Amino acid sequence: MSAQLIDGKTLAEELRAAFKTRVAALTARNHRPGLAVILVGEDPASQVYVRNKVNACEAAGIFSQKRVYPADVAQAVILAKLAELNADPKIHGILVQLPLPRHFDEKAVLEAIAPEKDVDGFHAENVGALAQGNARFIPCTPYGVMKMFEANGVDLAGKEAVVIGRSNIVGKPMALLLINAGATVTVCHSKTRDLAAHTRRADILVAAVGKPRFVTAGMVKPGAVVIDVGINRLPPEEGGKLCGDVDFEAVKEVASLITPVPGGVGPMTIAMLLANTIEAAEREAGQ
Ligand code: NAD
Repeated sequence: MSAQLIDGKTLAEELRAAFKTRVAALTARNHRPGLAVILVGEDPASQVYVRNKVNACEAAGIFSQKRVYPADVAQAVILAKLAELNADPKIHGILVQLPLPRHFDEKAVLEAIAPEKDVDGFHAENVGALAQGNARFIPCTPYGVMKMFEANGVDLAGKEAVVIGRSNIVGKPMALLLINAGATVTVCHSKTRDLAAHTRRADILVAAVGKPRFVTAGMVKPGAVVIDVGINRLPPEEGGKLCGDVDFEAVKEVASLITPVPGGVGPMTIAMLLANTIEAAEREAGQ
C-alpha cells in the first residue's frame, strides 16, 4: 500500500488566496491587518523563517514590519519595543522569533506581548484559553495540522492519537487540540519507555521531535494518518537536504495518509500565522 499525500503546499496556497479577500475587505474599512516580527541574533534558520513570514504577509496584502536586533541586545530594549508595538494601532499581530539568545528570559518576553496581539499563541493567557477549549489564538503549527485533518476529511473523534514531542510550541498545543477534537491522546517524549508500543496503537501519529527519520515503518500502525512536523537539515555527506522526523519512503508504504517534508506542515504554519493576524484585525475591527 502507498499512502495518499497530504499536500500542505497546495492547501496553504488555497488558504492564502482566500485570505487576500479578507485582507482587502479590512483594508477598505481602514483596518489593514499588520504584523510586527522581531528577530534577535543571526541564526540562519530563523532568518529564513522571518523572511518567509514577511514575504507571505506582503503577498496577502498584510502590512508587515520587521525589526532585527544584534544577539547581545539587552532584554529591556526588546521589552520597550514590545510595549511600543502593543500600543501601535497599525499592528494587530506581534511575533518574536524563537529561540532567543541565552541571556533572555523567554517567558518574560512572550508575556510582554499583549495577549490580543499574540498571534503565535504562546502567552500564558492564550495557552490557558486553548487548554479550556476556548482559544483566542491557536499556535500556528498545530493550527495548520488541524486544517490539514479538516481538508482531508480526517475525523478525529474517538481516534487514538499519539503526539511525539511535548514542546510548548508544537507538542503540547497539538495534544490539546486533539483532545478538544475528541481524540484519545497520548503524549510521548524523551523519557517515554517503549515508544514504539505507543506509536503502533496510533490511528493518528504526529511527530515533532527534531530527529531525522526518527519514526520508522515498524513504529506505525497500518492505515495510520502520519503528520511529520520535523524540519531537519541532513549533513552535507547525506546531501544537505531538508528532512522530516519520519522515514517517509518506508512509512508511506504503511500509512493511509502522510505529510511530506518539505511541502507539508511547514507551508501551513506560515498560512496560519496570516490567518491569526487577519483574525486579530477582524476582532479589532469589531467583526
Ligand atoms: P523541541 O526540541 O522543543 O522538542 C522536541 C521534543 O521531542 C521534546 O519534547 C522531546 O522530549 C522529544 N524527544 C526528543 N527525543 C526523543 C526521543 N528519543 N523519543 C521521544 N521523544 C523525544 O522541538 P520543537 O520546537 O517541538 O520542534 C520539533 C521539530 O519540529 C523540529 O524539527 C522543528 O524544526 C520542527 N518544527 C517545525 C515547524 C513547522 O512549521 N513545520 C514548526 C516548529 C517546529
